[in-house]
Amino acid sequence: MKKNILVLVVAVFVMSACAAPAAVDINQTEVDLPQAETVSVLEESTGLVTDESEVSDPVVTEETGSGEETHQATIAALSDTELSTSELEGITFMREEEKLARDVYIQLADLWNMNIFSNISRSEDTHMEAVKTLIDLFGFEDPVQDNEVGIFTDQVLQDLHDELMVSGSISLADALLVGGAIEEIDILDLQKYLDQTSNSAVIEVYENLLRGSIKHLNSFVSNYERQTGETYQPQFLTQEEYQELISLSSGSN
Ligand code: ZN
Ligand code: ZN
Repeated sequence: MKKNILVLVVAVFVMSACAAPAAVDINQTEVDLPQAETVSVLEESTGLVTDESEVSDPVVTEETGSGEETHQATIAALSDTELSTSELEGITFMREEEKLARDVYIQLADLWNMNIFSNISRSEDTHMEAVKTLIDLFGFEDPVQDNEVGIFTDQVLQDLHDELMVSGSISLADALLVGGAIEEIDILDLQKYLDQTSNSAVIEVYENLLRGSIKHLNSFVSNYERQTGETYQPQFLTQEEYQELISLSSGSN
């Protein structure tokens, strides 16, 4: 299982590095912001879930942004730049990668009836929304469209989803490992795309998502270890990267 996923992940990296986004006009980025809404979504985008506690994410609504003049000014300034092709590709890709996380956890929640999957799937939904605010902000095409759970525009993500669902259906322990794999992949992709952007709005969203992913990884790790009595081994991160992230996370809980 691990090898197959690894092959897919390598393909994901390669694809996301070369795929040209269809019909993206960077010059259409003169933006009239729904500023207050954008601020509130950005701020609420890291729904953090620890272990199996019933933490529900703040609901992202269109009406929550009143009285944030300072933030409005900040976001207006943040959005007043054009994005490079690689930044657009990154946002497009991350939008569907967050959907992949959400969709897999929704299905694993149905399969294994364990709170961690339903809790974190709700957090992933806010991550999807946070990336969508960037798509709206800069005015380009949303790859998600009306796609249902388990359906992806990007074929590499579609294949990765299908593979992960096969693995996650084997046992609860395998399902928790799938959760760990998704969060590790998410962390690596976010770090990669953070390196490729200097746009403050994009950085703010990615850093929020990254903090969420680290917490999620920590939750899957502790649940896996409790469930199996075994030590979680990182699947895509190096041992060193993994140890650093886990200590970061336990320090901030
Ligand atoms: Zn996420
Ligand atoms: Zn996550």
